[in-house]
Amino acid sequence: MKQVDGEKLLASLGEGVKELRGRISTDAPMDRATWFQAGGMAELLFHPHDEDDLIAFLKVLPEEVPLTVIGLGSNLLVRDGGINGAVVRLSAKGFGQAEFIGDNRIRAGAICPDKTISAVAMDNALGGFHFYYGIPGSIGGALTMNAGANGGETSERVVEIHAVDRKGNRHVLKNADMAYSYRHSHPPEGLIFTHAVFEGFPEDKAKIRADMDAVRHHRETVQPIREKTGGSTFKNPEGHSAWELIDEAGCRGMMIGGAQMSSLHCNFMINTGHASAYDLEYLGESVRQRVFEHSGVKLEWEIKRIGKFIPGREIKPFLGTVTD
Ligand SMILES: Cc1cc2nc3c(=O)[nH]c(=O)nc-3n(C[C@H](O)[C@H](O)[C@H](O)COP(=O)(O)OP(=O)(O)OC[C@H]3O[C@@H](n4cnc5c(N)ncnc54)[C@H](O)[C@@H]3O)c2cc1C
Repeated sequence: MKQVDGEKLLASLGEGVKELRGRISTDAPMDRATWFQAGGMAELLFHPHDEDDLIAFLKVLPEEVPLTVIGLGSNLLVRDGGINGAVVRLSAKGFGQAEFIGDNRIRAGAICPDKTISAVAMDNALGGFHFYYGIPGSIGGALTMNAGANGGETSERVVEIHAVDRKGNRHVLKNADMAYSYRHSHPPEGLIFTHAVFEGFPEDKAKIRADMDAVRHHRETVQPIREKTGGSTFKNPEGHSAWELIDEAGCRGMMIGGAQMSSLHCNFMINTGHASAYDLEYLGESVRQRVFEHSGVKLEWEIKRIGKFIPGREIKPFLGTVTD
């Protein structure tokens, strides 16, 4: 049975939609938009052409319609019942570029891949960005998740963030407005990041290249980077590493349906072929339960789970709390 009705939503938006320049689609399969390649449909998916087009869309979209923003989908699990309302995914054309702007700074659009920032930084002998080389997300996702690795994280490099709110008003934020914590930020509610300015420091190109190569080599050795995955499933709890707790609880390689905790890196959950979002989330909650029983530690999800369950296939969090 169809879980969403995009045509009805689109029709309700009225004539203003005709002025939009970006691509709009209804009942859009979200398995194509996420690394897990699982999950249901978005009622409406809009790829704004540029910032003005995004603002025009927000003005056409009634306030009561739920709005979800996605980046490159490398940290997202969309539930099988799909997403009610509109999903915005910035277009690469309007939001995908990164450029060196002088004074040790780079300006990047919010759908620009993290890897591109590393490359632009290296070309301009700017240090401090090698860690982005191994993170497969976008700048918008990095700002939301305070993405980091190999000793660096987003909060250390950002200077200024540009965003648009739900009503289509533009905002400029300072880094301090983002209230970062470990793999999390807490900016004012409901903002869509459009671009950001980053600052590094002068560094020798050969050193930067060597650091980037080390990042790549490390990833290829210890992470299942060619699988359908969402990266680390759970955050590292204070004083512990999530993978060790998972391993000690006997969950390495554990499977439910087509979902598996990777044997190579047991904090990475993978879709081995045709896993449903239900399989993946049920596996994650089962791991949380086993780890709690074994060590008393409550793991918190790092992967964002969004959308709705198929009726009758709801998953109750085993530990009574849902964490994002
Ligand atoms: C193989 C693999 C390895 C990984 N390794 C790492 C790692 O080392 N370190 C690390 O930190 N992460 C890692 N990740 C996780 C992931 O890449 C990061 O969390 C990344 O920052 C997510 O970016 P994204 O564009 O894919 O965001 P998405 O997954 O699409 O979205 C994540 C969140 O960001 C929000 N968001 C995205 N764009 C915007 C925007 N423009 N405005 C407002 N909100 C927005 C979404 O609403 C959502 O809440 C890994 C993932 C994979 C698959």
